[in-house]
Amino acid sequence: MKAVVFVGGGTVQVEDVPQPKLRSNGDAIVKVTHTAICGSDLHLLSGHTPGMRAGSVIGHEFVGTVHDAGGGVTSHLEGARVLGSFLIACGSCAPCRTRRFNLCTERRALGLGTLTGDLDGAQAEYVRVPSADVNLKSLIGDLSELSDEEALFGGDILATGFYGASLAEMKPDETAIVIGAGPVGIFTAGALARVGKVVMLDTDARRVAAAQGLGFSAAHVVDDNAADVVTQATEGEL
Ligand SMILES: [Zn+2]
Ligand SMILES: [Zn+2]
Repeated sequence: MKAVVFVGGGTVQVEDVPQPKLRSNGDAIVKVTHTAICGSDLHLLSGHTPGMRAGSVIGHEFVGTVHDAGGGVTSHLEGARVLGSFLIACGSCAPCRTRRFNLCTERRALGLGTLTGDLDGAQAEYVRVPSADVNLKSLIGDLSELSDEEALFGGDILATGFYGASLAEMKPDETAIVIGAGPVGIFTAGALARVGKVVMLDTDARRVAAAQGLGFSAAHVVDDNAADVVTQATEGEL
């Protein structure tokens, strides 16, 4: 199959690699229909991710269909349309049992190197997903109405943005400043805007314009004028 492989030295390339096989009865093999490039993929490309192994497949955001599943997989039928999670949780440790998968004691990630489990990633025709019952979500019910491209956001950047927003514990009469108008920042702002007023800041004029195009209040920060921009955007409130 074709896959995007980490070569090293700031290089990735599409190569022919063996198709993944089931290794344990909790695994599923997903035929990938859509995958995305994350900011984390740019970090590994620029050499900022320790433990990357040359020859490994990268990528951790994906939507696809279940191609094969181990006997222990009970939540997803073969052929089911599924969304993948960017982190791979075990599903059975104490944090996992309380659904705090980000605190899983066996936490791994797809396509991010040897320090996160050395799992081949999803920028490939097929990907092996361990503990598939917890790390895949079937796109059924209301979720079945989402296109693959829309659902793709749920596996990482939308979930990350919403979780970050929830940590702010924002009240309706408050104003939130979101620093960074990239994709995660936009989802964070989208979550916070459901509660109160949001102002986005970025040093990149194109990102400011993109956020404004989506209807957000966003200001371009140049040099060290962030405080002035916030004061202006909040009409002196902050
Ligand atoms: Zn990601
Ligand atoms: Zn766990």
